[in-house]
Amino acid sequence: MSTQNDSLHTVVMGAGINGVSAAIWLARAGRQVTLVDRLAPGEGTSHGNAGVLASCSIVPVTTPGLLAKAPGMLMDRDSPLFMRWSYLPRIMPWLVRYLAHANDADTRRIAGALAFIIGDSVEQHQDLAGNTRADQWLVPSDYQFAYGSRAEFDKDAYVWNLRRDNGFVPDIIEGAAVQEREPALSSAIGLLAVMKHHGHIRSPGQYVKSLAEVFLDLGGSIRRAEVRDVELVDDRIRAVRTDQGAIACGSAVLATGVWSGPLGRKLGIEVPMESERGYHVIFRNPSQMVTAPTMIATGKFVATPMHDGMRCAGIVELGGLEAGPSREPIDFLLRHVRQVFPQLTYSDTVEWLGHRPAPIDSLPFVGQIRSTGLYAAFGHHHIGLTGGAKTGRLVAGLITGEQDADDLRAFRPDRFTAKAR
Ligand SMILES: Cc1cc2nc3c(=O)[nH]c(=O)nc-3n(C[C@H](O)[C@H](O)[C@H](O)COP(=O)(O)OP(=O)(O)OC[C@H]3O[C@@H](n4cnc5c(N)ncnc54)[C@H](O)[C@@H]3O)c2cc1C
Repeated sequence: MSTQNDSLHTVVMGAGINGVSAAIWLARAGRQVTLVDRLAPGEGTSHGNAGVLASCSIVPVTTPGLLAKAPGMLMDRDSPLFMRWSYLPRIMPWLVRYLAHANDADTRRIAGALAFIIGDSVEQHQDLAGNTRADQWLVPSDYQFAYGSRAEFDKDAYVWNLRRDNGFVPDIIEGAAVQEREPALSSAIGLLAVMKHHGHIRSPGQYVKSLAEVFLDLGGSIRRAEVRDVELVDDRIRAVRTDQGAIACGSAVLATGVWSGPLGRKLGIEVPMESERGYHVIFRNPSQMVTAPTMIATGKFVATPMHDGMRCAGIVELGGLEAGPSREPIDFLLRHVRQVFPQLTYSDTVEWLGHRPAPIDSLPFVGQIRSTGLYAAFGHHHIGLTGGAKTGRLVAGLITGEQDADDLRAFRPDRFTAKAR
């Protein structure tokens, strides 16, 4: 039976950046909060990303022309797009709907909506972590994009123009000035597009763990359990069911990242989301590092200076959640790192496979599901670390009544659900 106290209790499912941020903002608002994860905090996708607070990354993967380019990229061994072919029949329905967004109108709409979630990410992370033990991981910095030449940079004009339209204008550095600024980069890199006022996290996993400790300091509690279901009475959340028993509550946040689909479907919303598998290699004890996160345009991976070495992260591989890591994407990364950082030596490497939660329209699910008291905070694709601090705050604001739901219409969790359209 639920009590008066339970109605003020919120369960946050998922201790990645989105869940931990929601938990902290709710605890700061004086709410009683339990954070539930089957793993320790920060061990899902939030562990292994490139660590960039990429406020300018508002342009989705699905830009005009992708449909024509994708088959060639999939066949090209030297392209950062990979497919596990045995998974193709399962992913086909998602793929068709995803690629349907590769047009100018949708790309502009998505970019505008993402600018709201990620445009002020450094301030949002400072508000979340500033003056706490988590602050040690947060570094305001530039975010730079490395191209072989001006001609290569010009080929990305569509993306850069859209960024410019949303107020993100790079400084351009060319020729020898590139290596004066970043001596680790090969002389084959002839242009850097430098975005000011960005940032990075020196260890995304440790950052989320530190934030979880901040949450405990605020009086929150953390439970290690697998969420199995939610209990609704008269279409209102009453409890979250786990393998360790039910936790009574009056509201709950679904922040289980790429694993949110089945729970969302149990709640009656359609979640057309797949994993965009990505990889990282950490070069430990490196002889050189870039001074700021650097997107290597040819390899579509980011090299980021981190506390345990230089992390090179990226790649898109379509192949679902169940299969283990593939060798080809890692070999691709290693090959490109050798080309771009020819002088780099290191003691050893660490390799990782992770799962970006990729909805067909590249927009996260943020908001209340019907009037259930259950709030979605998942589906952040390539920008979940960047947008997680703000998303958690927005969802906490929805629960406490301080956030207007109308501001979040673009992210409605029921936007694909037939009855709701
Ligand atoms: C290679 C790569 C590079 C990336 N680089 C960047 C970057 O530089 N910048 C950026 O902004 N983003 C980046 N991203 C994306 C970003 O990492 C994700 O969008 C983000 O981490 C998602 O966070 P989350 O909190 O939604 O999910 P997660 O961090 O995955 O957290 C979800 C949690 O839910 C838990 N969970 C799941 N199911 C259950 C269940 N049934 N019961 C209990 N617990 C459950 C999991 O254990 C996990 O801890 C990158 C991703 C990849 C793969």
